[in-house]
Parts: sequence; C-alpha cells; structure tokens
Amino acid sequence: MNKKRHKDSFKIGNEVIELGERKKAYLDVAALLDYTKLRIPIEVIRGKEKGPVLFISAAIHGDEVNGVEITKRLLQRKILKKIKGTLLVIPVVNIFGFNNQSRYLPDRRDLNRCFPGHVKGSLGSRLAHTFMKEIVSKCTHGIDLHTGAIHRSNLPQIRACLDDQQTSDLAQCFGVPVVLHSKLRDGSLREAARKRKVCTLLFEGGEALRFEESVIKAGVNGCLSVMQYIGMLPEAKKVLGKNKKSVYVSKGSYWTRATHSGSFRAKKKLGDQVKAGDLLAVISDPFGDNPYSVYSKYEGIVIGISKIPLVTQGDAMFHIATFRNSGKVKEAMTSFDEELT
Ligand SMILES: [Zn+2]
Repeated sequence: MNKKRHKDSFKIGNEVIELGERKKAYLDVAALLDYTKLRIPIEVIRGKEKGPVLFISAAIHGDEVNGVEITKRLLQRKILKKIKGTLLVIPVVNIFGFNNQSRYLPDRRDLNRCFPGHVKGSLGSRLAHTFMKEIVSKCTHGIDLHTGAIHRSNLPQIRACLDDQQTSDLAQCFGVPVVLHSKLRDGSLREAARKRKVCTLLFEGGEALRFEESVIKAGVNGCLSVMQYIGMLPEAKKVLGKNKKSVYVSKGSYWTRATHSGSFRAKKKLGDQVKAGDLLAVISDPFGDNPYSVYSKYEGIVIGISKIPLVTQGDAMFHIATFRNSGKVKEAMTSFDEELT
C-alpha cells in the first residue's frame, strides 16, 4: 500500500501531492537584496486517476498580467474537480519582473531567452533551469500565456510550430480564430519544452499591464478546450472550444513601419481586414502639415498594433498576418467576438 502511494506521488519543490489532492507548492529562487526570500507559487491539482500532465504558465514577462488573471479565473472553475491527470498552474513565473511591473529580470535579461538554463548560470538561467527541472520535465503538455509588449496590443492568437502535427491539432482546438505558425525562438520556454517533447502552445492577447476582458475570456476558454482535447476534462458543450472549421492558420506576418517621424492617426484597428495598398495611418507634424500616409503591403488581418500615437521613423506600427482568404478570417473573428460577449 505504502509502496503504491509512493509510486503515484507527485513531488514539486518541497511538496508531495497525491492522487486526488489539490495543493500549493513553491519553488525557491534567489532572495532579494535584503535577504527576503522569493518563491514561485504553483497550484497543483491532481485527479483521482492518472492522465496527461499540463502546465499553464503566465508572466514569464513580468508585466504581461492578462495571463495572471486568466490563471486566477481558471483556478476558480468548479469543473477542475473532474480532472484526470495533473494540472500545474504557475500564475507568475518572473516574480522579479511582476513585483516591479517590468518585463525583465533585475539584470535586464529577458527570462524567455534564458531557457533551458543552467544550474550555475545567470539569475535568469538558474530560474529557467529550476522551471525546466521542477515543472516542464514532469509534463506532457504546456500552455504559456503572453500579451503584447508595453503599449502594443495583440489580437488573441496562438503561436506554435505547426510542423508538428500534435502541436498543430492542439493549437487549433484552443479556439481562437487566428493561429500563427511561428518558428521556435532561441532560448524560449516553448523551444526548450519542445526539445523535451512537451507539446507547448503560446497564447498572445492584449497588451502589457492591462486586463482585457475579451482576451481573458478567450484565454480561459482556450485552456479548458485544450484540457478537454487531451482528455483531462470531460467534454461539455458549455466550455468546449469553438468550431475547428473557423480556425485560420497564418504562415506569415509582417510589420508596417513608420515612414516618417511624427504623431499618427490610425485608420485600422486590431482584427481589421486589410487589402494590399489600404491606408493604415496618417503621420504628420504637430501642425498637421506634411502628412504622410502609411499603406499595407499585402492583404491580411491586423493582429498587433502600437498604442502610442507617436512614432519615430522606422518604429513598428501595425503587425499584419497574411492568410489565403483573410475575408473568411474576418468573418470568423466577428462571430468569435460575439460568442465572448
Ligand atoms: Zn511575453
């Protein structure tokens, strides 16, 4: 009996979580300058039966707080009592950045470029190493929640390497209309997880330091859809992902940059469909003289936008994903928005 309990135990940090238990665990990382200990908090929910092991992480960039709200709301869902397998929720991975409302670590490193990390590396490298060892290495699947950078807003979207069929299926079941095929980024959690054969999605939506209700709802629903798809939760119409047919995959995207410096008035917003040569914005000097028009290069959907109406020549203004038929994507997004309200 004891031997069996031991075999099925799940250890994380100093906690042991048995089948059917729900517990908080903590990962010790470096202390602050005044010796205050900093720990990454984790909630572990284990079903009575074994099954997939999924991690859902947020705020690897410390100012991307939408994901923190997504995990908070997910953890309140009663349906989690029906879990089969193990769910690991890490609402704040970059605890240093989160406490400072910053994307970065105290040494200005980007934690999402430090993976898989090393036990004797920099602070970020050590933190990444601990995360890989204590979380990722024990998982079968992962979802990493992000937002746009500060003053840049993203349409809810999944980014994943779709060359892998399992990842592609998972990306489509998340239920947001736009899936961006994204090659792996060196040093990212997603890349390190994939190397360990942990099928991982990256969710993007909204902007840093803001809660956006539609993005939060899309994130919560998406996480539940993935859990149903991999067999962690029973299928229920109420939380089931959107129709797979209305998911559109983009294999390419481009940024439109400011042709001149000045302030600009945007003519398109997130989710808008654009044709090649459409007017995106007008840049001018403070008198309104010397206006310059910014046009789209190719047909697509606006998936990212700069929220600061001031640009210096060369600044990124609109991120546009290209599709074979962006008219249909626009249609799918309209019905998606209606479902979320
Ligand atoms: Zn991010």
